Amino acid sequence: MSNVQVAVVTGSNKGIGLAIVRALCKQFQGDVYLTSRDPGRGQAAVAQLQQEGLRPLFHQLDIDDLQSIRALRDFLKEKYGGLNVLVNNAGIAFKVQDTTPFAVQAEVTLKTNFFGTRNVCTELLPLMKPYGRVVNVSSMVSSSALRGCSQELQQKFRSDTITEEELVQLMTKFVEDTKKSVHQKEGWPNTAYGVSKIGVTVLSRIQARLLDEQRKGEHILLNACCPGWVRTDMAGPKATKSPEEGAETPVYLALLPSNADAPHGQFVSDKTVRPW
Ligand code: NAP
Repeated sequence: MSNVQVAVVTGSNKGIGLAIVRALCKQFQGDVYLTSRDPGRGQAAVAQLQQEGLRPLFHQLDIDDLQSIRALRDFLKEKYGGLNVLVNNAGIAFKVQDTTPFAVQAEVTLKTNFFGTRNVCTELLPLMKPYGRVVNVSSMVSSSALRGCSQELQQKFRSDTITEEELVQLMTKFVEDTKKSVHQKEGWPNTAYGVSKIGVTVLSRIQARLLDEQRKGEHILLNACCPGWVRTDMAGPKATKSPEEGAETPVYLALLPSNADAPHGQFVSDKTVRPW
């Protein structure tokens, strides 16, 4: 088993994920895994970084596929005996003009952004080594969507005692409510992406709390963040930040020094903790 440190970035064949891998290749002392659901797109991205003189490694990972997540988990356990840095970056968003029925958009968006990210955490967080760093890429849209929720939902999502099971029930209820066209009556905002990212931010707060309760003394720091508005296939060419600028906050959180005890369980943008 290798003693080398290891970092994994999900959804990193393009966009912000690729920029995070590029930065980690330069700054992280260890192996950096570029992952992609499609091996062809992943290997092409690896080749691009190799042309820049960098040495990322590749592993397939589709966060919608539990078998794929478990194959990565087994590989990391076997080769490295764990994991030092995990960046949950993979995500999807329907375009504003997309005419797919809202209930379908809700189901598909939640499946990847919330349930897929949660499944990666369920399988990989137990592998995190002491002083590990976990970054869940959420969005400022999670904050605006939170403000668009009913008072009752806002209270639940801001609660310091909400459990992962309760969060999963709420995310499942959102999808069910959209199918019955009652989601707005039930207090939800009209944004599937926004609700999925509420899920990612709240999940991060819960996971950080569980680390405090169950793995105190291991100095693992876990945070959610917003990369900013970034020029990628998701956000389009008018966005204000380059992918490299978008990678700055996730990389800062991924490389928090070993003597840091904060931020932890926070929502961070522009390297600054934001109120939730
Ligand atoms: P992007 O260019 O569309 O890249 C998304 C990446 O996620 C791609 O590599 C994509 O792979 C991957 N992905 C999607 N579903 C996946 C799955 N099931 N399994 C594994 N990988 C999957 O988007 P981006 O702008 O870089 O976004 C990265 C993250 O930042 C997302 O979580 C997004 O919500 C968040 N974010 C972006 C912005 C922004 O302004 N761009 C703002 C706030 C937050 P494929 O190439 O195979 O599709």
